Amino acid sequence: MKKIGILGSTGSIGVSTLDICAAYPDRFQVVTLTAGNNLALLEEQIRRFRPRQVAVIAEESAEQLRKRLGFDGPEVLSGVEGLIACACHSEQEMVVSAIVGAAGLVPTMAAIEAGKDIALANKETLVTAGPLVMDAIVRHGVRLFPVDSEHSAIFQSLEGHRKDEVRRLILTASGGPFHKKSLADLQTVTREDALAHPNWSMGRKITIDSATMMNKGLEVIEARWLFDVPAERIAVHIHPQSIVHSLVEYIDGAVIAQLGIPDMKTPIAYALSYPRRLALTLPPLDLCALRCLTFEEPDLEKFPCLALSYQALEMGDTAPAVLNAANEVAVDAFLREEIAFLDIPIIIRAALENHQISALTRIDEVLKADLWGRQEARRLIQVRG
Ligand code: NAD
Ligand code: MG
Repeated sequence: MKKIGILGSTGSIGVSTLDICAAYPDRFQVVTLTAGNNLALLEEQIRRFRPRQVAVIAEESAEQLRKRLGFDGPEVLSGVEGLIACACHSEQEMVVSAIVGAAGLVPTMAAIEAGKDIALANKETLVTAGPLVMDAIVRHGVRLFPVDSEHSAIFQSLEGHRKDEVRRLILTASGGPFHKKSLADLQTVTREDALAHPNWSMGRKITIDSATMMNKGLEVIEARWLFDVPAERIAVHIHPQSIVHSLVEYIDGAVIAQLGIPDMKTPIAYALSYPRRLALTLPPLDLCALRCLTFEEPDLEKFPCLALSYQALEMGDTAPAVLNAANEVAVDAFLREEIAFLDIPIIIRAALENHQISALTRIDEVLKADLWGRQEARRLIQVRG
């Protein structure tokens, strides 16, 4: 029986993780759950999975939950301290990190420091603090299993191979809903257009990131730290069918890939049960019905967020944290219809240009850069408005 905690249990990844736990009650026990809002769903999850401890952001929500759950309910905590307490719960051995955004960093880092293995969906943890997180993973002797489908594909394609024989990592990208649109078309796309992802059903923030291709940029940074491969050896190919989830090219020219239908349950289950595979009831991949798989170079002019991510990696230290923070603020403003789709990269670029890079040796320096990036992006949005 593996005892797990889920940070962000009411989100798209959190819900899929609990579906797997429900299908395998003899393998997984849920010890802690945390959520940002969506109290009704959290309450349902608590009644079904009976965790020991839960946390929500607002104390007001925690109070409501305590009242509704009564005496035999779990301990209900609130705030960042509550998230940290759940992340570190002594009974659990693994934490599924599935909060969206840089808010996932502090509880994930706390779980690592408490010696928990991590199933990492929250890519922002590695984007903002990659070297510090990887260092902590080694120092605390824990394992980090990628949940992001591309990184899970690379992780699987590296199994049984030597790292010093890797030539390149190739991340695939669906290209999102705007893959076929021209730059002129992108000037008038709406929030609803951007939220209509062709292949994957995900939370709103990552869906917009897929439309701008910032998602792939964040994934390049994630891969750089997770697999310790420099950016110049990480390529991105557009693959609109989302069947080949990513590839590893070796020095002898062999290329190993992982394929499957686009469903996050496969990478989540692999992270939860590594090195074993769990039987899942997903439709099989029917390559003959698909007939063809296509690949092409990304268009960096149409999708500048991808180029900005490589640039932030090159700048190093606090730059990726600022890129991420400015992106979170810009995406939020776009979702609130305060800025246009093409304003998103403009704001991120300006924030990066205005940032004074500083060394990254401690988590509080990441948090400081994150805060600066958010304030700067908000200022830039205001001056534009
Ligand atoms: P989501 O928006 O559906 O869910 C996010 C979860 O985090 C919810 O439970 C929410 O209540 C909680 N949350 C939000 N803000 C919070 C805060 N400030 N503090 C604490 N909790 C907070 O997001 P998602 O699509 O499940 O994505 C989660 C993470 O996984 C993201 O980092 C995303 O990039 C990554 N990811 C998601 C997918 C996917 O298919 N959804 C695929 C790959 C990677
Ligand atoms: Mg992904």
